[in-house]
Amino acid sequence: MEMIIVGSVAFDSIETPYGKKEKLLGGSAVYASLAASLRTNPGIVGVVGEDFEDAHYDFLKSKNVDTSGVVKDKGNTFNWGGKYEEDMAQAYTLHTHLNVFEDFNPKINDDYKKAGYLFLANIDPPLQLAVLNQMTDLKFVLLDTMNLWIDIKKEELLNVVKKVNAISINDTEARQLSGEWNLIKAGTILQEIGPELVLIKKGENGTIVFYKNNYFIAPGYPTTATTDPTGAGDSFAGGFLSYLAKENTVDFETIKKATVWGNMIASFTVEGFGVEKLKTLTQEDISKRIDDFKKMISF
Ligand code: AMP
Repeated sequence: MEMIIVGSVAFDSIETPYGKKEKLLGGSAVYASLAASLRTNPGIVGVVGEDFEDAHYDFLKSKNVDTSGVVKDKGNTFNWGGKYEEDMAQAYTLHTHLNVFEDFNPKINDDYKKAGYLFLANIDPPLQLAVLNQMTDLKFVLLDTMNLWIDIKKEELLNVVKKVNAISINDTEARQLSGEWNLIKAGTILQEIGPELVLIKKGENGTIVFYKNNYFIAPGYPTTATTDPTGAGDSFAGGFLSYLAKENTVDFETIKKATVWGNMIASFTVEGFGVEKLKTLTQEDISKRIDDFKKMISF
């Protein structure tokens, strides 16, 4: 296994100005693994409840996602309700039911333990640490998080952030975690905690990359079809890490390409409700969008 992902496997209830849908397959690990599956065969570490159907497993498997690290427990699958208004950069959490995640104690199988690339997607920081501690052959670890954990588990979160190579975080969370409003200063403060790579996501405005002493700025692809922004951050990060895993290289040039690759996948994700767009997305679609994008940013 080249790359594994720990994060939420969820049912989401989502409301945007374009509609309202219940019980959609979602979760940080699901979005990230579907995005990553365009370049690698990622494995998921997670837990689902008795309400998670075989059809959901079959769908993930059909997309080259390995689900042997997903356990089924008594109770219901993690459930998140979110709402977006006209400014779709801002998600309002309506409810978070951890359900089976409350007592989850991840046990990593021998195949997964040897993965070189690990994505600690958004989930309770002690769970991220429990997975990190079991890995034996790591080359590169990326961590993502959200405002909830900065609010209620900041110390535990910082304890994991210190141990990873990279973090992916949105602008609001970067300001919150660093205590600094200026994003360039915030990125540098976050690097001082430990990670040599910090990816600050600015929604439709793209990503600022801090790698060692280098910066790179990648605008987002200007789609006019945003319908549901859920999972944009997770698809960006999953796509980003899968690019490094596939190249098996971590240097500034590869990081730049991986950032654009991740941004393009995220721009597709937001064009459909839930994981709808990721169901049919191909490498060719992404390459075509990258060609368009190159024309837009060269002068
Ligand atoms: P994002 O990429 O930030 O839009 O992530 C959206 C996904 O995060 C949704 O599919 C949710 O199921 C998931 N999510 C929301 N809150 C949490 C949480 N507290 N822990 C883990 N996953 C979450």
